[in-house]
Amino acid sequence: MTNLSAVKRKNQGFKEKIEAESGQSVTSCYQCGKCTGGCPLSFAMDYAPRQIVRMVQLNMKDRALNNSTIWLCATCSTCTARCPREVDLAAVMDTLRIEARHQGIKPKEKDVALFHDIFLNSVKKSGRVFEMGMTVAYNMKSGNLMQDAELGLPMFVKNKLNLTPDKIKGAKEVKKIFDKVKEIEKVEGGH
Ligand code: SF4
Ligand code: SF4
Repeated sequence: MTNLSAVKRKNQGFKEKIEAESGQSVTSCYQCGKCTGGCPLSFAMDYAPRQIVRMVQLNMKDRALNNSTIWLCATCSTCTARCPREVDLAAVMDTLRIEARHQGIKPKEKDVALFHDIFLNSVKKSGRVFEMGMTVAYNMKSGNLMQDAELGLPMFVKNKLNLTPDKIKGAKEVKKIFDKVKEIEKVEGGH
């Protein structure tokens, strides 16, 4: 038996497992990419959401579970709302995270935890994700200041990066929620 067929055999049934556990038909995805187009965090992911779905379709278990995408996904469901095939990709991402945990696969914790802090901070401040601010803050804090310079410039030229954190309606409400969570944390921390 070749190594390739051994891997294929080992991964057989992965797609069906993820479909059963997420309740989603990953098979229905026809790779249109609308999920990736709407994902507010795709710029920081190593694989686009569309590619993760493809990996599951092809039983590429190792890659589907070993990537930053599943950990960076904020379960915002934008992809789900945009999918013409009604694939709830947010649920698929959740299932992959759970499966990764079961397999003892951990995220690059320091970086992912840092990213989440900065992400939440960005949402708290402006009520929406402010990509350029997040990228710069993340790179400065993680010590990779120039990490996305090459990516950032072409995106800026193509007008794909938000340079200013434009506020959304409801930003105040978002801030209130964060303040409330802080209060609760303080109270709980005091016990
Ligand atoms: S939007 Fe839906 S059909 Fe299109 S690539 Fe993403 S999951 Fe597949
Ligand atoms: S649920 Fe995850 S993958 Fe989907 S748009 Fe939101 S962050 Fe991106």
